[in-house]
Amino acid sequence: MLYTIPDYYHEFTCVAGKCEDTCCAGWQIVADEASLEKYKNETGTFAERLKESVNWEEGTFKQDKDRRCAFLNQSNLCDMYTALGEESLCRTCKLYPRHIEEFEDVREVTLSVSCPEVARILMNKKEPVHFLTYETDEEEDYEDFDPFLYSKLLDARDVMIDILQDREKKLNLRAVLILAIARDLQECIDEEDIFSMDDVFDYYQAEEGVREVKNALAEVDYYTYSRKMFQNQYQMEHLRADWESYLQKAEKLLYGNANEKIDRKRYVELQQEFHAWMAKEMPEYEIQYEQLLVYFISTYFCGAVYDGEAFAKAQMAVVSTLLIHELLMAQWMKQEKVLDINDVIDTVYRYSRELEHSDSNLNLIQELLQESNE
Ligand code: SF4
Repeated sequence: MLYTIPDYYHEFTCVAGKCEDTCCAGWQIVADEASLEKYKNETGTFAERLKESVNWEEGTFKQDKDRRCAFLNQSNLCDMYTALGEESLCRTCKLYPRHIEEFEDVREVTLSVSCPEVARILMNKKEPVHFLTYETDEEEDYEDFDPFLYSKLLDARDVMIDILQDREKKLNLRAVLILAIARDLQECIDEEDIFSMDDVFDYYQAEEGVREVKNALAEVDYYTYSRKMFQNQYQMEHLRADWESYLQKAEKLLYGNANEKIDRKRYVELQQEFHAWMAKEMPEYEIQYEQLLVYFISTYFCGAVYDGEAFAKAQMAVVSTLLIHELLMAQWMKQEKVLDINDVIDTVYRYSRELEHSDSNLNLIQELLQESNE
């Protein structure tokens, strides 16, 4: 088995009780069968607590009215961990914030930016992210796995990450280049013409393709596009009780509710002012957005081997980074036009929790993006 990890993987340590926003609250933790079996057979002093804290029908841990896990104590430490040790934890708790994508004999392990400590590491990282590999003797055979498509998606992802990390190019050009590549790859996938994918890579790495994308970029109506993508978020399930009102306040600040002509003009002026402020006061912001784009592409793009939706996955990476940017701009407006790195970390991990802690949100964003292409 081949394992890959990002180069910052070993920098992570869980700060447990000192965490600013514990991962043991706000979402439903589903325990695996083997752990449930172990909990059922526990006979020690913790057996009674296990019996009453697990929803045996659903295979989940019960929560209190604030959606805190039934094992989480007031010091934000896990009572099960304290009583029975790390080995007692279910697979979800043992793994988090590690996230594993499985591809036949490859396991891609990343760290989810929905954990504030991971977001802190990634948002402070200045160098381009590299991926490390190691091999073990384990083997696994997958039925219905298309190794040829997978190898082409891997090639595409390498090309996209190279483009995203090309700091000679402006960030919006890099983002739109990977969208153009993914859109054309999608046509190859839909037409079952996988061999033509190499031509797509060559085209967008050459001058002609870059020129075409630059021209398309000049036509983008950022106000309409950003607003539409922003409003898509209301259709998702909200994991945190305050998320919807947070979105509503940000939406009003960003896109206004007077009349479209005035709101659009104001938005364009604010964008210019915000970019100028960021370039002066937080010049590393383009690097942070690059890290986010690489994070989303490296985590999700190759999943297209299972559903064939390469374009939607690249769009999800770009739209997620755009929405984080929009939320940061709203935060900057709210704070009298000031931001710091902690605002960036907060916005990243909060957005990621809403999207990445919910399979239905991950599926829905993909569907909405597919619809927007029709
Ligand atoms: S969110 Fe991250 S740092 Fe916080 S408790 Fe969970 S794993 Fe630890």
